[in-house]
Amino acid sequence: MPQRMAYFQGSFMPLEDATIGILTHAFLYGTACFEGVRGNWNADDETLYLFRVKEHYQRLRRSCSILRIGLALSDDQLCDLTAELVAKAGFTEDVYIRPIAYKSEEVIGPRMHDVADDFLCFVMPFGAYLDDSGIRCMTSTWRRVDDLGIPARAKVNGLYINSALAKTEALENGFDEAIMLDDRGHISEGSGENIFIIRDGKLITPPPSDNILEGITRESVITLARDEFGIQTIERSIDRSEVYVADECFMTGTAAHLTAVIDVDRRPIGTGLPGEITKRLHERYHDALHGREEKYAKWLIPVKPQVAGKQGVKA
Ligand code: PMP
Repeated sequence: MPQRMAYFQGSFMPLEDATIGILTHAFLYGTACFEGVRGNWNADDETLYLFRVKEHYQRLRRSCSILRIGLALSDDQLCDLTAELVAKAGFTEDVYIRPIAYKSEEVIGPRMHDVADDFLCFVMPFGAYLDDSGIRCMTSTWRRVDDLGIPARAKVNGLYINSALAKTEALENGFDEAIMLDDRGHISEGSGENIFIIRDGKLITPPPSDNILEGITRESVITLARDEFGIQTIERSIDRSEVYVADECFMTGTAAHLTAVIDVDRRPIGTGLPGEITKRLHERYHDALHGREEKYAKWLIPVKPQVAGKQGVKA
């Protein structure tokens, strides 16, 4: 039977056995950084394709260096360990993988130095996160945390209170997702997604200096748009009202994939339906994710789930 699995304190185990004490520093103060990685199931070749695992670990390492958290394993070791974890779990459906580098010591006092670190990772089934047919967003009253407060380009666990407040506000007001502005009033990003608008056939997306997480899906979509369709992406600040008059809008993220935004603050975007360029990018992106585009095989680690009596192996 497939089961949720963890790599914890140096070994593989069922998720239920991987527990931390309530004094753990990361629990007390949010002193951890993480990644979210998707494994996308392709039923035709019975393979789970793990998306851009190495790039996720490279970003984790950058987060660790900003936070001063040690990460003992190399990127290749982390990739191998992740593929092994997913194979052992045995799922034949889409999965979500959560690597975390964290301050593991049981000690009081907020600080980054002189507290022991550890790394863990778990895998569980995970389907669609947002409605693939298009979402309705609101501009959040919560501002995106500025780099001078908590570095936005580091994927810091404690920072996600900012996303959680914005997401809850959006859902409780009848929307699907929040769009956060930064301190200067520029569009920054969603609670767990980067944002793009399309005007006159060009993609426009906020630059990292507008306090976004430097998204791996964002970078993948910029590459696909350029190499597959010859569409250029401009990285520049976007005002709130510019989104209202965009021809198309979409969000990108590991959980969200590429999701059309069809309405913002009760103003339909373009026709009020997913736009043509958005649909083309969405289709090509999903082909790449599921191993159907040879050209983008370099983005994937194929994993054959372990079945009873057989060894799980990289395909
Ligand atoms: N911004 C935030 C705040 C996020 O949490 C995420 C999800 N990791 C993203 C953007 C998108 O990043 P990625 O495409 O690397 O998942």
